[in-house]
Amino acid sequence: MSYVQIENLTKTFHGQPVLNQLSLAIQKGELVTLLGPSGCGKSTLLRILSGLTASDSGSIHIDGKDVTAVQPKEREIGMVFQSYALFPNLNVSENIGFGLEMKKVAKAEMQRRVQEMIELVGLTGKERAYPRELSGGQQQRVALARSLVTRPKVLLLDEPLSALDAQIRKNLQKQLRTIQRELNMTTVLVTHDQEEAMAVSDRIYIMNGGRIVQHGNPHEIYTQPRSEFVARFIGNYN
Ligand code: ADP
Ligand code: MG
Repeated sequence: MSYVQIENLTKTFHGQPVLNQLSLAIQKGELVTLLGPSGCGKSTLLRILSGLTASDSGSIHIDGKDVTAVQPKEREIGMVFQSYALFPNLNVSENIGFGLEMKKVAKAEMQRRVQEMIELVGLTGKERAYPRELSGGQQQRVALARSLVTRPKVLLLDEPLSALDAQIRKNLQKQLRTIQRELNMTTVLVTHDQEEAMAVSDRIYIMNGGRIVQHGNPHEIYTQPRSEFVARFIGNYN
């Protein structure tokens, strides 16, 4: 069994199927991207993985454990969204430490882990800054640190860079990949940006209409698209 194993997930909203018998498998330490057009079910799949939304049927295993019916906070999953959702009245250190405080981690240990994360995401010197004093890219690095500090088994990223300027986005893609490798963090990145998927992924799952239509490493997807949809979506079509 793979580290993350999703089998036959189905989800219907108001009679409309949004996920249709969807299965996928992720190895430990892999960065897998879900790539597909708006409305194809990417965020719904992440929400089901995190436990925020229940599926109608199907199963999810993480690290050998059936978590299909497990509460979100017991799934050991970290999540970062497109909008930063930092606490405006807490500074950088406090934002990052929040999840540890909830878990009643001892103060010295908490400070050590928060500082380690601040260094990892390159925010040394910004410990006392408030979210409003940070750029969009810096805020997303805080959000990333905040979700990593609790050492989740899986990191879920829902279009975390989409709202950022192109140049900042490119830099953050590189940083994200470096950090992900350094921590060997099993990561699922959602994006509708083909270039981003090509640049950062170990493997790409292409979604359309609530199904996986192809998966493979970036080179395979680019050179051997199995349908016109994939070819067009990846931009290798002429
Ligand atoms: P994506 O993230 O790929 O853009 P979503 O997973 O957000 O797609 O949405 C997939 C489909 O499910 C869309 O048609 C959307 O309108 C619908 N949907 C998502 N969440 C809900 C919800 N809570 N209630 C009703 N429909 C929803
Ligand atoms: Mg979405």
